[in-house]
Amino acid sequence: MRLGAHLRQDENPITTAEELGVDIFQMFVTDPQKWNKPQPHPHAAQIRESPIDVVVHSSYQINVASLNNRLRMPSRKAVEQQAQAAADLGAIGLVVHGGHLREGEDPAEGFANWRKLFERQQDKGGFAVPIFIENTAGGNHAMARTLESIERLWDAVGDFEQAGFCLDTCHAWAGGEDLIGLVERIRDITGRIDLVHLNNSRDEFDSGRDRHANLESGHIAPDVLAELMVQADAPTILETPTEGIPDDLAYLRSL
Ligand SMILES: [Zn+2]
Repeated sequence: MRLGAHLRQDENPITTAEELGVDIFQMFVTDPQKWNKPQPHPHAAQIRESPIDVVVHSSYQINVASLNNRLRMPSRKAVEQQAQAAADLGAIGLVVHGGHLREGEDPAEGFANWRKLFERQQDKGGFAVPIFIENTAGGNHAMARTLESIERLWDAVGDFEQAGFCLDTCHAWAGGEDLIGLVERIRDITGRIDLVHLNNSRDEFDSGRDRHANLESGHIAPDVLAELMVQADAPTILETPTEGIPDDLAYLRSL
């Protein structure tokens, strides 16, 4: 089982990863709030050659489902560029949020846009790394909040080998999905879970709010999270508050 954490941008991730003793870490390749093209990482060779695995999280404003051309077009380009930057670091994949539409828009068009992302890239030989589509917590027009929407999404992208799935436990909980047995229900739809974001939640079930908590200090029973991790049997990343990550790792290792 590969276990690790999302690491802060202002550090050499390998140094921090070694200090934490993790098998895998997650990082951004550009400012996650901006459209900036990724620049070569100063420690790229070290990251690539390290036995510690890496996965890249894409920037937050990406929304490949959007019906707005001026958002969808730069989103497609950013996914392509960030997948290439991820490959340059030897990453196992690029995490991209499911995205959402606006009030009154037809979800079918959003799912079709997800399909087009992979279709268009296939003509160019595919993405440089697999794309792990992550479930999200909030909104009534999300592409990957509920199992029902994930099922429709997978009808659209499921035949592309490069379309993977990232299960975020805080998002599922806040999005109103029961975590007990969730791994099985997701796998029935997607056939795969490529990555787990193991996070507790600062908010109640079905709150729609995306606020992560350390494993033993949120509304989800920590043993439910640990059990989900075992069932998923996939590389697992903590996206919990930085100061509590050593305790989160210690809790999981103690089991
Ligand atoms: Zn996440």
